[in-house]
Amino acid sequence: MTRERQHRREIALFGKMLYQRGYVAAMDGNLSVRLDEERILATPTAMSKGFLRPSDMVIVDPEGRLLAGRHHVSSEIAMHLLIYRLRPDVHGIVHAHPPTATGFAAAGIPLNKPLVCEVVIGLGSIPLARYGTPGTPELSETLEPLVPQYDAILMSNHGVVAYADTLHHAYMKMETVEHFAKVALVTHLLGQQQPLEGQDLEKLLLARSKYEGSHSAAPLPLATADGPGNHNGPQRGSADPGLRDSPRSPARGFRNRARVKA
Ligand SMILES: [Zn+2]
Repeated sequence: MTRERQHRREIALFGKMLYQRGYVAAMDGNLSVRLDEERILATPTAMSKGFLRPSDMVIVDPEGRLLAGRHHVSSEIAMHLLIYRLRPDVHGIVHAHPPTATGFAAAGIPLNKPLVCEVVIGLGSIPLARYGTPGTPELSETLEPLVPQYDAILMSNHGVVAYADTLHHAYMKMETVEHFAKVALVTHLLGQQQPLEGQDLEKLLLARSKYEGSHSAAPLPLATADGPGNHNGPQRGSADPGLRDSPRSPARGFRNRARVKA
């Protein structure tokens, strides 16, 4: 099987998995693979990711012009092109709207607290990009400052984009983001968080530098309320009385994030 044929099958497979897991609805989402310097293989617009055949994919050049394929190119291809341009190490991208992580993105809350060791190793933290209208240059502008440092980004009032050295790893990162969002939501419902800190975090940083899927310089999620990780502007409102900090850590960042915008 040629490499291109293999990638076409992979895109169809991971598109189906996104659909089956409920990470996309209707015709949402898109996936792509960088075939070489001049060609990107991507899902077409206006088709369900659950039922794509390998022959449905389109091939575009680095400017997004259609080179091959019988379907139309998605307007969200610009986001993929930006990531490939800024990250030469990236060869696969997955964009979806998984409900829990998208809920955080719609609430204006980044997933930047070190609550789960494996997430710290695999992703660092997941910042929140400010809102940009899909299919316009605005969307790329909101992502641009974050792409070099992070491997997955929450897009305000929209969804998630994850990328890696392979499409398989990018898909895994998408799963990790949604799973972590569920865990973060449970800690919020329990009214208490116990983030990792100090030496425990330093050891994870060391492990992260050795982790095969980690190629970016994503900082550990040490961000507090007004630190890096939330690029959606200042938050308003008062502290949430329903969320109690654990004695081990003040968990201030998340509590402040948990404020609901007035
Ligand atoms: Zn989208």
